[in-house]
Amino acid sequence: MNPLRTLTAARAVLGRGEASPDELLDLAETRNQELNAGPEPLNAFLSTVGSQTGAPKVGEGAGGAGGGDSARGLLAGVPVAVKDNICTTRFPTTCGSRILADFRSPYDATAVRRLEAAGARVFGKTNLDEFAMGSSTENSGFGAVRNPVDRDRVPGGSSGGSAAAVAAGVVPVALGSSTGGSVRQPASFCGVVGVKPTYGRVSRYGLVAFASSLDVIGILSRNVADAATVLEVIAGHDRYDATCQDRPVPRAAAASEMDLPGVTLGVPEEYLGLGLDSRVRGLFESTLEEVTRAGATVRKISLPSTPAAIPCYYVIAPAEASSNLARYDGARYGYRAPATDRLLDMYERSRGEGFGQEVKRRIMLGTYVLSAGYYEAYYLRAHEVRLAIARDLDSVFAAGVDAIFTPTSPTPAFRLGEKLADPYEMYLADVYTVSANLAGIPAVSIPIGNLEGLPVGGQLMCPHWEEERLLGIAGRIEDVIEYAHPLDDAEEGAGAGVDREES
Ligand code: GLN
Repeated sequence: MNPLRTLTAARAVLGRGEASPDELLDLAETRNQELNAGPEPLNAFLSTVGSQTGAPKVGEGAGGAGGGDSARGLLAGVPVAVKDNICTTRFPTTCGSRILADFRSPYDATAVRRLEAAGARVFGKTNLDEFAMGSSTENSGFGAVRNPVDRDRVPGGSSGGSAAAVAAGVVPVALGSSTGGSVRQPASFCGVVGVKPTYGRVSRYGLVAFASSLDVIGILSRNVADAATVLEVIAGHDRYDATCQDRPVPRAAAASEMDLPGVTLGVPEEYLGLGLDSRVRGLFESTLEEVTRAGATVRKISLPSTPAAIPCYYVIAPAEASSNLARYDGARYGYRAPATDRLLDMYERSRGEGFGQEVKRRIMLGTYVLSAGYYEAYYLRAHEVRLAIARDLDSVFAAGVDAIFTPTSPTPAFRLGEKLADPYEMYLADVYTVSANLAGIPAVSIPIGNLEGLPVGGQLMCPHWEEERLLGIAGRIEDVIEYAHPLDDAEEGAGAGVDREES
């Protein structure tokens, strides 16, 4: 078995002395090169240890803030990947944008420092939609990422590089970021686990800002237990992020003690419409039957504000983005257009040449909804809708629902290019995931099966700060489902390639 598939596998070979941490990094490099060879390169990484000639493999001065004693050594010697909108000193941090093509951060993000303090070795930085704006990773300024399960399809986005790297077995775990669904949706498309923690659970220090009231660092892994371990490592108070709260860190061990009998799952009726592919619906419904047989209670619920979530998100996120992205002006850092006579020309040309289409669209949208005369009509209105969405969720939890269970995305991975012409179609890929970001609650996507060989994910959402419950329930559902990843079948000839399809 590939030792880079899970934390358990990596720790086992390290523990038995069958491979050193350096050898695991070399193995990740070899695997990544294999995946990039040929006419359909995966393109999951923008930089790796191997591409950084002369760079030390382990960060000097790794350690630093937080993590807590329990985290020490949890990831000793394990290669991990980091989305390229999270700052690292030893690799460039491009955000998938031409405007930051040559940018190298002078500091490491808190989450990266904590990974390294727990012994992890950062193998490389993963490809993404430019500034995390997108749902397919086709908006990268450095070429699209392909889905390792089917190279003609997208891996989802915007953390598509992280999801593809984990699914393809280059690294067992990777960091991503979520503003509206960028960890859960690619996890769903690639057949891996994606965790979006509570807003304020993980420090955003060093996460390049997209929409600051929504952004959170998340985790991609092959199984729930591995994600829980990484969450334990990176979570917790950080004085460099004022929105990061001082609360007890969720423990991976506590999450493993949860049981399905006694658990009530709420299934919102609104999520079973909204463009849901009938085959995904069938797979989701058979999953509901399985978890019911395993002792969980499934209850129909209603989240009436759901249809407003996408419009609300596409006012708030671009508004914040237009403000956050004002800093890329060619003067302070990043790309600067060749000499022009007027300062204003320099700004215009640097931004015009540096940003891609989708980013420009968001900046224009955001500037529009914040401008005088429209602010009340759009931005304030969206803020009210956001509160209504959060209230809907609160009242469901208050009525005794332990977790909300939904499909993660209305369809399996779509084809490369399929939604590029119509941004609104692309936006709908996140119709089930944006609410958790708008409300700030934790959520996870776990694989629930394959449809014609393509992975499909199910999403769980819990109240604020209930990650132990969230990952506990997710772990038990994972046990019940016994998901077979399409690539594992191919690699091991394990004969388990039976699709869990509705007949
Ligand atoms: N797809 C959504 C967007 O384009 C969400 C992106 C994200 O979570 N970073 O805004």
